[in-house]
This record gives sequence, C-alpha cells and structure tokens, in this order.
Amino acid sequence: MTLSKVNILHIEDNEGDIRLLKELLNNAREGKYKITTTVTLKGGLAQLADNKFDVVLTDLDLPDADGVNTITRIQEQEPSVPIIVISGQDSEELALQVVQKGAQDYLVKGQGDGLLICRAIEYAIERKRNEQGLSYLANYDSLTGLANRLLFRERLDRALIRADRNKTLVALLVIDLDRFKNINDTLGHDAGDKLLIEVANRLENCTREGDTIARLGGDEFTIIMEDVKAFEDAVKIVDKILNQMKNSFDLLAREIYVSPSVGISMYPLDDTDAGNLLRNADSAMYSAKDGGRNCYRFYTEDMNKKLLINLNMEAKLRRAIERNEFVLNYQPKFDMHTQELLGAEALIRWHSPDEGVISPALFIPLAEESGLIGVITDWVVQEACRQNSLWQQEGHAPIRVAINISPRQFAHENIARRIFNQIICSDLAPKYVELEITEGALMDDVEKSNEILKELKDRGIHISIDDFGTGYSSLSYLKKFHINTLKIDQSFVRDIMEDADDAAIVSAIIAMAKSLRLNVIAEGVETPEQLNYLAAKGCNEAQGYLLGKPVSAKEFEKFFDNKSETSAIKLAKSA
Ligand code: C2E
Ligand code: CA
Ligand code: CA
Repeated sequence: MTLSKVNILHIEDNEGDIRLLKELLNNAREGKYKITTTVTLKGGLAQLADNKFDVVLTDLDLPDADGVNTITRIQEQEPSVPIIVISGQDSEELALQVVQKGAQDYLVKGQGDGLLICRAIEYAIERKRNEQGLSYLANYDSLTGLANRLLFRERLDRALIRADRNKTLVALLVIDLDRFKNINDTLGHDAGDKLLIEVANRLENCTREGDTIARLGGDEFTIIMEDVKAFEDAVKIVDKILNQMKNSFDLLAREIYVSPSVGISMYPLDDTDAGNLLRNADSAMYSAKDGGRNCYRFYTEDMNKKLLINLNMEAKLRRAIERNEFVLNYQPKFDMHTQELLGAEALIRWHSPDEGVISPALFIPLAEESGLIGVITDWVVQEACRQNSLWQQEGHAPIRVAINISPRQFAHENIARRIFNQIICSDLAPKYVELEITEGALMDDVEKSNEILKELKDRGIHISIDDFGTGYSSLSYLKKFHINTLKIDQSFVRDIMEDADDAAIVSAIIAMAKSLRLNVIAEGVETPEQLNYLAAKGCNEAQGYLLGKPVSAKEFEKFFDNKSETSAIKLAKSA
C-alpha cells in the first residue's frame, strides 16, 4: 500500500448515503481516503475540471442527471479517471450497460461492507490504468513514442476536416532514411534502434506544436503539418529537418551520418483522399531518393504512374522469391589457347507463372530499386555455389562460377563479408568463385570500392570488371584496382568485323590488359571471325553463343572435360 491518500470524488445527493460511505471507508482504511463530495453532476464536473482525482464514485440518480448518460458526461470532462457507479437499483442489466459505457464497476447501495468498496476502488484504478496502457500501445510506437500508423491515420483524417473548415492546406511529409538498412546490418539492431530514437527527437525539434509526427514502420517517418498557407511553409520545415540531420549521430562511439529523403504531398491540391495523399508523398519520397538522396521532392502526377507499374512488379517479385520461381542458367567460358573450360557465368531467369520467362534485364533494375536485390543475390550466390560444389563432387574438373553483382549493391559495406560467408557455408573454396562487377559500380566511390575489392581478392575470390569499355574507368584507377580480369563488353565484340573503331577499342583493351597483367575475356562472341580476330590480338578467354549459350545446370555438363567437341573445334581453329 502506498502512503499517499486516494483522492475520491463522490457525487451523491442523498445525505445519508454520503455519510454512510465516509464511515464505511474510514472504518475499513483509516486515513487512506480523501473524499470530496458534490450533490450535483454539474458540481462534480466543475471539481473534475479543477482538481485531480484518482477515482469517481457516482450515483446515477442525481438532481441534474439521470442514468448511464452520467458516465458519458464524466468521461467527456476527464477521460482518464476511473468511475464506479453506486446505485440504488440492483439490476444486472443496468450494471452491464454501465460497464459497457466505460465505467469500471457497479455497486449496489447497502450491499457489501467497507472492505468490499475499498477493494472495488483499488481494482477500478488498476483496471483503468491497464486500459490506458493498452490504448497507448495501440496508438503509439513503443520504440520512439511517436504516433503509430493507426493514430497517424486518425490524426490525418481530422487534419483534413479542420483544413476544410479553416480554408488552409495540410502538408504531408514522408521521410525515409537513406541507407538505414545498411547501418542496421553493420552496427546491429540496438544501434539501429538508438538511431531511430535520435531521429525521432530531431524531428520533434524541427516541427511546430500541433504537428503530428508518426513512425509508420522501419525507418519511415511522416509528419502532418496543419495550418499551412503556402508551399514555402512546408519547405521551411523540410529545410530545418535536412539541416538537423546533417549533424552526426553517436552510435557505438562512432560518428554515423544519415541523410533523409523527403516526399511531400499537399491537401487538397494533390488529392482529397487521405490514402492517396500518403501514397503521393511516398512516391515523391522515392523520387527524392532517385534524385540523389538527402533532398526533398513535391509530388507530381506522372510520378504516380511510374510507381504503380513498379509496385505491381514489386509484389510479383516478392512472391517469386517466396515461391522459388528463379532458376540459374550457366554459360561456359573458355581458355582461347588450351580450349579448356574455365568457368560458368550464372545468369538468373525468372519463370513467372503469369508472364513466362522474364529477362533479368527487366527485373534486376526493379529489384535494385525496391531493395529486393539483396535477397535475390543471396539466393544466386547460394545456388551457384551449391551447384558448382556439386559438379566437383561428381568428379568434374573444377571450374569457377561467375556471379553478377548489381551495381547498387556493391556500395554496401558488408557485401564482401556477406558473400564470403555464403561461399564458406556452401563448402566451396573461394577460388572457384568469381564476381562480375560493372565499371560504374566501382567508380562511384573509388577508395571504398577498392577496399572491398581487396578484401574479396585477399580471400581468394576472383574479380572481373563486367561490360568493360562502356563506363568511364580511367587507366590510373585500373592500375590500382584489385582485380583479375577485364571483360570486354559485347557491344564492341559485336561490331568488331564491321566497325574499325570498335576493332581498335578491342585491341586497345586487350593490349592494356596485358600490360597491366590482367586477364581479358571477350563476351558475346557469335561468329568464328570474331573469335579469330580476338585470338590474333591476344585475348585469352572467350564467352558467347558461338561457344555455348546459357543453359540449365544439367545441360551444362556437356561442356565439362572437353566433351563439347564443337566448342573445342571452333576454339582450336582460331588458335
Ligand atoms: P551480363 O552480365 O552482361 O550478361 C551477359 C548477357 O549476354 C546475358 O544475358 C547472356 O545471355 C547474353 N549473352 C551471352 N552470350 C551472348 C552472345 O553471344 N550474343 C548475345 N547477343 N548475347 C549473349 P542475360 O542472361 O539476359 O542477362 C542480362 C543481364 O542481366 C546480365 O548482363 C546481367 O547484367 C544481368 N543479370 C543476369 N543474371 C544476373 C544475376 O544473377 N544477378 C544480377 N545482379 N544481374 C544479373
Ligand atoms: Ca556478367
Ligand atoms: Ca556483360
């Protein structure tokens, strides 16, 4: 029992009942209760407005009120106070109604002693506390204390009504943290949580009283700005947010920087429906992300169309992952001089039940945008390693399996470790794995790229630069990069025989690779002429339809141990 007194408001017009309750409570727990009495509901409501009570005991039969409506009026005045009805009527039906209206208990006058009433009071207080705890849980995000999605929707609906009445605008902001997932993955969830809490604090510092900040889940926050008169009002707040976020976050004694991408939609200019407004702000946010991150965008209409198409595909992609609709095909790579099979490039195929086989050129960009690429690459790495290890167990001469790494993914700091762990789990020696990375992916952040490359290469993984010649690698970088192979883009190979420029580029790339002591492979080789030309220039590896198309794992076995005579003969002729 606590020592502080329980503050009771007793609303009762019968003198006898007032005195009786005082006596009963005093006899049961002396000095425990401080009782304030009023004889009318009006007086009771005035008391509730001025003072804080722990519980209200009320009759339903008062000079200025009658029946269960009494409860509603008390609740309107003070929603958080527990209510016990003490009534002259011994009616189960009324008791039920009273509780349904939100009172915590129903006692009948003259029944039970003081102890029973004391206990009823304690229970009522406790029950009310629990109810409020539950409603808190239902409406607020437990991590940050911000409004959750449910409360957000309620507040948004109310904000739109108020805006109509006051002829003002509502700005809806959606804020997403760039690379949050990255931080979560590398520093751990505790650090991620801490970051979200700190972001919530900073957002609170940027907004005005009356604005609602909510966390919709993950690292997605929204702000409902009311009483907006012009776009500039919203811009002011967004500028503040972007500024606040520029300061580093202290996580695990490290200084971490995160930048937000902000999308904004305006009511009633963009849409009058709350759900659409949120969707619009969302697509504006994605467009901000595309536009280089750490910036904001207002919603425009055609943005929506683009997103709709993508959303459909994204849902299908998610299902495809769950339902195992992906398969890997393998295309052989050969040594030009020895005609030996060196490796297989794993190329993903999506067997969609609705659309048939879908090219990776179509869905990989979408997977990159939606962040699903991580899961897909994980699957590709695991499956390719599993297959290659199986081939070795079956007694075939060991080859390397080449995996395409999407440019967007390469920037992730932990990609080296992530891939390496998966290789280790597959029982395949890392030297039998090759990663194909495009030039562009490496040039985004040269220093960081090279660190990752070094880590991979130190672990024995083979690195190729894919589509070489199409990007903007400068020679000086090429020298520094920790790589093994340059893969000449097929667009140059295609026109080698017709286009003198392309022929010159190809010879230059081969010569350069040689001087840097790098392997060089030509992809997209389709004719014997192309193969001869490449061989004459000193290209040491080749891949293309002429030597072997991408095929299923089973079919690929024909290339092992020089069993594919056609490939070998074509290679021999060119040598
Ligand atoms: P890429 O890495 O440049 O792959 C080579 C593409 O050229 C493959 O197309 C292959 O089937 C095709 N090809 C091979 N030899 C010839 C030839 O002689 N002539 C012609 N015309 N084409 C040839 P595919 O399989 O449709 O893949 C397209 C692109 O999709 C790939 O280009 C790669 O960037 C991406 N991709 C494929 N699988 C994956 C994957 O598992 N992960 C990622 N991130 N990207 C993938
Ligand atoms: Ca490739
Ligand atoms: Ca390529």
